[in-house]
Amino acid sequence: MTSKRILIQNGCVLTLDKKIGNFHKADVLIEGTKISAIGPNLSAADAEVIDAADMIVMPGFVDTHRHVWEGILRNIGTDVTLEGEANSLTIIVNTLAPVFRPEDAYIGNLVGLYGALDAGITTILDWSHIQATRDHTDAVIKALDESGMRAVFAYGYPWWKDPDEHQEEWIREIAKKCFSTKDQLLTFALAPQGPEITSFEVAKAQWELARELDARISVHVGVGSAGQQGKLGRMGKAGLLKNDTTYIHCTTLSDDEIKMIVDTGGTVSLSSTSEMTMGYGMPPIQRFLNHGLRPSLSVDAETNMPNDMFTQMRSVNSLQHAMIFDRKLAGKRNLPPFMTSRDVIECATIEGARANGLLHKTGTLTPGKEADIIMLRTESPNILPVNDPISAVVWGMDTSNVDSVLVAGKALKRDGKLLNVDLDNLRSKAYESRDYVIAKSGFKLPEI
Ligand SMILES: [Zn+2]
Repeated sequence: MTSKRILIQNGCVLTLDKKIGNFHKADVLIEGTKISAIGPNLSAADAEVIDAADMIVMPGFVDTHRHVWEGILRNIGTDVTLEGEANSLTIIVNTLAPVFRPEDAYIGNLVGLYGALDAGITTILDWSHIQATRDHTDAVIKALDESGMRAVFAYGYPWWKDPDEHQEEWIREIAKKCFSTKDQLLTFALAPQGPEITSFEVAKAQWELARELDARISVHVGVGSAGQQGKLGRMGKAGLLKNDTTYIHCTTLSDDEIKMIVDTGGTVSLSSTSEMTMGYGMPPIQRFLNHGLRPSLSVDAETNMPNDMFTQMRSVNSLQHAMIFDRKLAGKRNLPPFMTSRDVIECATIEGARANGLLHKTGTLTPGKEADIIMLRTESPNILPVNDPISAVVWGMDTSNVDSVLVAGKALKRDGKLLNVDLDNLRSKAYESRDYVIAKSGFKLPEI
């Protein structure tokens, strides 16, 4: 049986693959789930043709850390930081999370995932610390599955209580039952609490479990004052830092700890918007660039942040420039180079794929890789005329430009609309769950 062929025709193609280059006008041929050819004037007589004139065609964005279950808590904590009595931990983690039923986690995940797809994100790491019961796990995996996205399910321990006595057993069972192969859209990672939230011994045991299960690790470190106590350094000295780990935030780590991450081949996820507004510390973009490590980017939490990668790209790029200009104005010399639009678009795609352990499958448009492709409208009044396609994506576009989204060759959004989503049903279930969670927790929504 021959696979279905799709020809995306006459687009401005940003492959982001340096060997192939980018094209002002070219075609992308998809066969089944994979890209089979890229170049001008491809012929494929039997293929379904998608007209991409007036479109930028590029790899889908990759988000490397998001607590997707919080989808029904959108914008609930924008004026809440890591500090004070009513802080992000006491409200989101200790008040709202504990009353989530499996169905609330499911619908939270579903609205988060559809929002991400709508914004042109094709791969997401779901940092899912809502695993109060075994049923919660099944519920969020069901949502990940239904969404059609490429996702890393990063199993997170609940933060508001001690892990259940069966937690480890559940993790082993899920790894075996749902993730026995890596050759599928959903892959598995462990999201341990990490040494700043739990003891060294517990952190070590959780990391060892991930390695026994051949799962990548995704961990928050260097967060606020908890990150200033050398706890990651202790893990490093014990030989626990390896190239299978993505370190999130890293804002208050010491120089030695940053170097340990680089030296052991780790990857990094920065959520510069939440890091800056919530008090995690200064995003360490330059500290990693100084070592030649380019971080990936992430949304983190929709309780506080918008759900798209355009915001993340602009935030981290602005911050890096501001820090260099600040030093320049203070009379410093021999300053590092500015990040360019090309650098930052690669952070949102290639580095994301690398951090999620999926660079062999996604992150660039390359024949042989999976067809995770977005098409961005260039005829819209917010972006025409396009003078520099890469800068247009990084600085000029927003989610309204996302016309089409394909994951593994399957169209999930076309002509500006999500496909196969019952939005009325999604909306009513999201409000139902939101109302239940708010009422049960006793939390009061902000006055307006
Ligand atoms: Zn986080």
